[in-house]
Amino acid sequence: MNPIIKLENVCYKYPDNDNVENRFALDNFSLEINEGEFVALLGHNGSGKSTAAKLINMILTPDSGSIYIDGKQIADKKMKESDVYEIRKNVGMVFQNPDNQIVATVVEEDVAFGPENLGLAPEEIRKRVDEALEIVGMQSYARHAPHRLSGGQKQRVAIAGIIAMKPRCIIFDESTAMLDPLGRKEVMNTILKLNKEEKITVILITHYMNEAILADRVVVMREGKKYLEGTPNDVFSQPERLVKAGLEVPQSIELINALNEGLGTKIPLGVYDLDTCADLISSALLK
Ligand code: ADP
Ligand code: MG
Repeated sequence: MNPIIKLENVCYKYPDNDNVENRFALDNFSLEINEGEFVALLGHNGSGKSTAAKLINMILTPDSGSIYIDGKQIADKKMKESDVYEIRKNVGMVFQNPDNQIVATVVEEDVAFGPENLGLAPEEIRKRVDEALEIVGMQSYARHAPHRLSGGQKQRVAIAGIIAMKPRCIIFDESTAMLDPLGRKEVMNTILKLNKEEKITVILITHYMNEAILADRVVVMREGKKYLEGTPNDVFSQPERLVKAGLEVPQSIELINALNEGLGTKIPLGVYDLDTCADLISSALLK
């Protein structure tokens, strides 16, 4: 099976990049995403996550290397406008600030904006808007004004606008970063639902380790390169490397690591929920 997204040795340097190192934002970066997968992309600020997302969405074009969407190479600078359009329809992107993504004064009109631009028939647009609002749990707000909604609700409207275009993959670029804990939870539940029920491939760029542990696979970036990759357990069980990449270590790992080092216990490192963590520690200490 072809991966739905493939980046092969991609390099990219911003033309107006006047920072001291003047380094590549992406430096020989390769990544494969399979259809239906949920991949979390982590990394310290400036590690190249947003650049990777923009290259996949053709907002930027790589200096070298290749990008394939569904087996079709997109890095070609001679690509037609219609090809770009086809790709954006298949790969949607949700950004950090919901206020910058909402264009209309009524929720359902906002969600209809994308499908209208696809030139669909009015009945089809109506159907897609209703479905999309239903999926994100915002159908009862269809006639509301977006600016009066909470951050989490606005972000769910923005997500509805993307799913009304029926993309196969959605990249969430720190889409929960500006939300309060409740809003974050609402949006994360929506993202999980899109992946598990609607079978949409998800790339989640995030700073929150508790969001990343929900993914099938975690990719950690550092200075434009892929630094670590594996299941959440594989990746989060390497605290020294996480610290090197400028990331937080999940609390359960930090605690178990401290106990193993300090008391000589041999509790396996892993990302555990509170109860499992407590059970593992108490049984190890009672031995
Ligand atoms: P992340 O999303 O992981 O925080 P970015 O992809 O935004 O990282 O940035 C990667 C590198 O590219 C950083 O060194 C950053 O300073 C640089 N960069 C990002 N956007 C621009 C830009 N518009 N112009 C110049 N340099 C940029
Ligand atoms: Mg970013």
